Amino acid sequence: MIDPITAFKDPWWYLVDIDYVKDGDTFAFFIDKGMRDFSNESIRLWGLDTWELSQPLGDQAKVFTSLWMADHRHGIKKYPFVIHTEKDKQSFNRYIADVWCSQGHHLADDLRQAGFEKV
Ligand SMILES: [Zn+2]
Repeated sequence: MIDPITAFKDPWWYLVDIDYVKDGDTFAFFIDKGMRDFSNESIRLWGLDTWELSQPLGDQAKVFTSLWMADHRHGIKKYPFVIHTEKDKQSFNRYIADVWCSQGHHLADDLRQAGFEKV
């Protein structure tokens, strides 16, 4: 049974599709906000920083994220990913988000496992 109270506590889940990848941890998404309401937002990955493009591994992190977006569509033509968003506490103009595919694979975990977390 669905508990409607859950949505009051944690409502910020969206189906999204990739517009373009800026770098390993920043991208633009097409966002299905429901009821024929769509937007396009620049989103920063939650909880993991990759190297800047000017730094070693920056380009490779961008390639990894681009390939991840292509590999994890799992045959879904539109809006194959789900994100959970939060306002960025350092920069309130932008949003940060966790990113999953329909099979539950988690972009930040996969970047971390592949060695692209800036430490
Ligand atoms: Zn996947």
